[in-house]
Amino acid sequence: MEFQNKLEFARTMDQKDPLREFRNRFYIPQHGGQDCVYFTGNSLGLQPKTTSQYVQQELDDWAKMGVKGHFNATNPWMPYHEIFPKQLSKIIGCKENEVVVMNSLTVNLHLLMVSFYRPTKARYKIICEAKAFPSDQYAFETQVAYHGYDPAEAIVEVNPREGEQIIRNEDIISAIKQHGNSTALVLFGGVNYYNGQYFDLESITNAAHVVGAYAGFDLAHAAGNVELNLHDWDIDFACWCSYKYLNSGPGGVAGVYINEKHAVDTTLPRFAGWWGYTKGTRFKMEKGFEAIPTAEGWQLSNAPILSMAAHKASLDIFDEAGMKRLHEKRRHLSDYLLFIIDYCNEQTGEKIIDVITPRNEKERGCQVSMLMMKKGRDIFDGLTKQGVIADWREPNVIRVAPVPLYNSFEDVCKFGSIVNRLID
Ligand SMILES: *Cc1c(COP(=O)(O)O)cnc(C)c1O
Repeated sequence: MEFQNKLEFARTMDQKDPLREFRNRFYIPQHGGQDCVYFTGNSLGLQPKTTSQYVQQELDDWAKMGVKGHFNATNPWMPYHEIFPKQLSKIIGCKENEVVVMNSLTVNLHLLMVSFYRPTKARYKIICEAKAFPSDQYAFETQVAYHGYDPAEAIVEVNPREGEQIIRNEDIISAIKQHGNSTALVLFGGVNYYNGQYFDLESITNAAHVVGAYAGFDLAHAAGNVELNLHDWDIDFACWCSYKYLNSGPGGVAGVYINEKHAVDTTLPRFAGWWGYTKGTRFKMEKGFEAIPTAEGWQLSNAPILSMAAHKASLDIFDEAGMKRLHEKRRHLSDYLLFIIDYCNEQTGEKIIDVITPRNEKERGCQVSMLMMKKGRDIFDGLTKQGVIADWREPNVIRVAPVPLYNSFEDVCKFGSIVNRLID
């Protein structure tokens, strides 16, 4: 597509956008009486205007019915979580028995590692990306130490090559081959939080399986963002949070995928709770855990309904918009953003902004990470003052993520003209 750095062009693009009405479904933070340019949907997605109704419904039912709401609420709480697999399976590409909504992300990462990281003297390594999200690093490190191994030796980080920002897929595959005999688990982010690189999940999974290791992914920055086919790619397990691209509110309830071949295996080790117990006999309250033979068998506690109501409000919007249309708009928006950034560099005649996110459209999602070669902090502060909400990462990276549900081409164009002025 031929892009132009002109407001009229951006507005025309918005008029032609089949998803343009969806912006009105969200509260857009304000700055000086105008909509902010909100580019941090990768950190905390905006609130749908319907969320309060969904949550209020549960508050009302609780007020009216008390404990009877478990069975009699408009959306009965006992099976409340069962409404999610249908919608989520479309977002992450899996079967309905492979997905469950529960807990929060790091908690789920630990629970999944209990099942899928069972190191032995011969096989104890975890292969992951360098600069994994800190919470994930702490989970890896403490899991390894918990099993009595040395994190410094057991955790193998794959780095970008000297002078490069992106981790080459061939380097990931060769690290898996090299450490194959001693690797228990390959565990990557789907999309790296820092540089926005979308890894090739399928080839990483294949390589892990060839050496006899499990392959799992943290999809915090991938779910609701990039195309996913977890089941077809034969991924063993994955987890994600719901408050980034999935717009389900701060600290919202998280999601887990477990490949059917593992989910049906009720003998697979796990840390159990009563909500993972076979439904027919759960309330006999007897000794001896019997797992539900689906991803639900990993649930511990009864469902956090208020948080789930917010999740439901958002997923209903995803359903209406449809993933296909969202992916299409996402590609155009981020292509336009890259065009605008290149334009800013050209205007100054030097490279002030180095894009460290892959240019290849298959290796990224919404997010573009800009390594600032000069005046990074000043430009970031200037953006904030003018109503652009972006994200600053030390020492000099600005992350921006135009998301297809509520960002517009006009947002991207405005962002560009503010950056341009700030560089001058
Ligand atoms: C956002 C994010 C987290 C946050 O974890 P919580 O348990 O939800 O606080 C963890 N891992 C990754 C990769 C993330 O992007």
